[in-house]
Amino acid sequence: MTKAAAIRAVKGFRDVLPDESRRWQAIENAAVATFVRYGFGEIRLPILERTELFARSLGESTDVVEKEMYTFVDRDETSVTLRPEATASVVRAYLESGLAQSDPTAQLFYRGPMFRRERPQKGRYRQFYQIGAEVLGREDALADAELLVMLARLLETVQARGVRLELNSVGDAACRPAYTETLRAFGRAHLAQLCGDCHRRLERNPLRLFDCKVETCRAVLADAPMILDALCDPCRTHLAQVRALLDVCGVTYGMNPRLVRGLDYYVRTAFELVAEGLGAQNAVGGGGRYDGLVAALGGPAVAGVGFALGLERLASVSEVAVDEAGPAAIVLPLDAGGVAPALRLATRLRDEGLTVNLEPSGRSLKALLRVADRRRARLAIIVGEDELQQGRATVRDLTRHVDRRHALALDAPGPELARSVRAFLETLA
Ligand code: AMP
Repeated sequence: MTKAAAIRAVKGFRDVLPDESRRWQAIENAAVATFVRYGFGEIRLPILERTELFARSLGESTDVVEKEMYTFVDRDETSVTLRPEATASVVRAYLESGLAQSDPTAQLFYRGPMFRRERPQKGRYRQFYQIGAEVLGREDALADAELLVMLARLLETVQARGVRLELNSVGDAACRPAYTETLRAFGRAHLAQLCGDCHRRLERNPLRLFDCKVETCRAVLADAPMILDALCDPCRTHLAQVRALLDVCGVTYGMNPRLVRGLDYYVRTAFELVAEGLGAQNAVGGGGRYDGLVAALGGPAVAGVGFALGLERLASVSEVAVDEAGPAAIVLPLDAGGVAPALRLATRLRDEGLTVNLEPSGRSLKALLRVADRRRARLAIIVGEDELQQGRATVRDLTRHVDRRHALALDAPGPELARSVRAFLETLA
């Protein structure tokens, strides 16, 4: 028989194994605890949405909608898309569930995979994970500020190293159109020095000129007019209020007048978290205010502000303590007769809150102890024939490799068993 070929994961899709997911868990737990403390509730969203949702919310002419979505026609002819981000889904759910009426100032957080068919590279995947939070129904600067304080606190808790917060205002419908024209005129005056992509951006969405990574374009844009100088009074006031509130809480940030978010529905506050030492993919997260989105999706004129963090990138800069310790004990039945008593013993210890591994029988004690070392167990609980006859298991201190023969009564009640195991653990080197 020929050997079947192994099946590999799809390009840009990857597995997250326990060595990595332990850090993810620590970060997610910290995020959930932080968000809950700030009054946010979790929303669990579907991964598949109608394509129209993203076409309408992200704008037809954005890179994400034009080239990066996983879109297919379902069997009933509906066009559906694996979500490239979650804000649009949060707003859809907010409207669909009636929250927009019953609890217009909703504070929601989410976590889960997103899908974008970008060119895979270090720190960029086609399935990646985000943790995000959204505040709906709030126009006031306090909402932006509180969200940013929460974000800053989370970054501290997960010990994200070298991450800085950059802030800008992208204006609103009152002041941005005039600025966009000024920028377009500036770009047209420098057409010869701009790349082909920038020529297109210039016509469609001049703000996105600032996204260009080409050195010559960046040099030209260094002298471009800045939106911060073109804000209308309400936008200027909003920004000043956000900044004052951040100062009150000691949140440090830098102003970046070239920071624009790629999506059309952002107004006023825009921010990004940038990490040093992550190379080209150095954005750990970003967000901003999107006051036009709810209405664009068919709802009332309700404001919104939110952010999304990239979990892969956050994990790569996080120095949060991760529990790498092995199990407290590993139970080793030496032969078939020991299997059932070993399972019963392990179960009762686990019921008492101890982390316990269990190995199948059929190998020599020496082989089993090698396994115990590999798993970094601190105690081995050996259930051999002799132990079964005595009704007492042998406990081996794996830090010093010494045995306490027949030290653990197999039939003792769970709490008593756990007490003796904990007492053993305390005597370890
Ligand atoms: P965005 O919705 O584009 O602002 O993305 C928010 C965050 O998600 C970014 O700052 C990244 O940390 C992360 N992110 C976005 N796209 C990818 C990707 N293709 N692979 C990994 N992380 C990503």
